[in-house]
Amino acid sequence: MIGRRFGRWRVLRRAGSGRGREARWECVCDCGTERDVSAASLIHGRTKSCGCLHSEQLSKRMREIHRRARQAARGHSPRLRLPFRADTACKQSRED
Ligand SMILES: [Zn+2]
Repeated sequence: MIGRRFGRWRVLRRAGSGRGREARWECVCDCGTERDVSAASLIHGRTKSCGCLHSEQLSKRMREIHRRARQAARGHSPRLRLPFRADTACKQSRED
């Protein structure tokens, strides 16, 4: 078990047994966070990181949504891109 990887977790050492007979392991996440995780959670994939994976996926999804919104705006009414164009126009006129 020691040294095995489960998602972003890497098992460091056996942690003190939790309540009942549940085995717990001290794990380190790829981001550096250390935490005791129950063996069952690791093995069944109930936990894959300290939570950083989830927030990364969330921000990735948000970036994707914003990207699509920008693409949609480009394809639709030119009024939607007016703020961007106005900004660029200002910069350009200053540079000229
Ligand atoms: Zn993490």
